[in-house]
Amino acid sequence: MRVEVLSRSLPYASFILRVLRDRRTSVEEFRLWLRRAGYLLGIAASSSLPRREVRVETPLGAAVEEWPSAEPLVVNVLGAGEFLAQGILDAYPGAPLGLVAARRVEENGVRVEIYYERLPRRWEGPAILADPMLATGSTIEAVARLLAERGSDPIIVASVIAAPEGLERLESLGDITVYTLALDPGLDSNYFIVPGLGDAGDRGLGVTP
Ligand code: URA
Repeated sequence: MRVEVLSRSLPYASFILRVLRDRRTSVEEFRLWLRRAGYLLGIAASSSLPRREVRVETPLGAAVEEWPSAEPLVVNVLGAGEFLAQGILDAYPGAPLGLVAARRVEENGVRVEIYYERLPRRWEGPAILADPMLATGSTIEAVARLLAERGSDPIIVASVIAAPEGLERLESLGDITVYTLALDPGLDSNYFIVPGLGDAGDRGLGVTP
């Protein structure tokens, strides 16, 4: 597993975090900056995408640039992933969009169950999973395993804030890359990232169930 923490090298990642972490940020601003986070993560993820060289004719000559050799499947992990996924799509406007919903089931311990998915039955290209908070890592792990079963390669995780517990959990997946804006110290007793940004789903959707 490879982990890239964007705020370590890009001050703009910290600008985004400053707004998203602030408890006073409005729903409108939260959505806007989550989308910007997605755009930045989508750009960073280009390092992990298979690419090919293409020749382009400029008005004055020829140049060789790169282009993704396959569109990434962007996976919106509902509902906190919504605005992050939109930002990734800003970077890859023609990319297919998959949907996944998961919930915690408490029986003989706690496990994560995927109860809704709208994904291709087979997808052998790259996949970018959009989930803002990589806390325990159990949802991302379940979604990544499902995508691996369907042939996805490479599998890329795009998160805004990650916790060490979540990264440790994803180690078992082997060959994935995690792009995150920040790595925070850990989780509280409710499995929320501290200091984090609170409940990304509630803050982005603007409703508390
Ligand atoms: N989900 C959230 O929305 N926030 C956290 O801190 C952890 C999981």
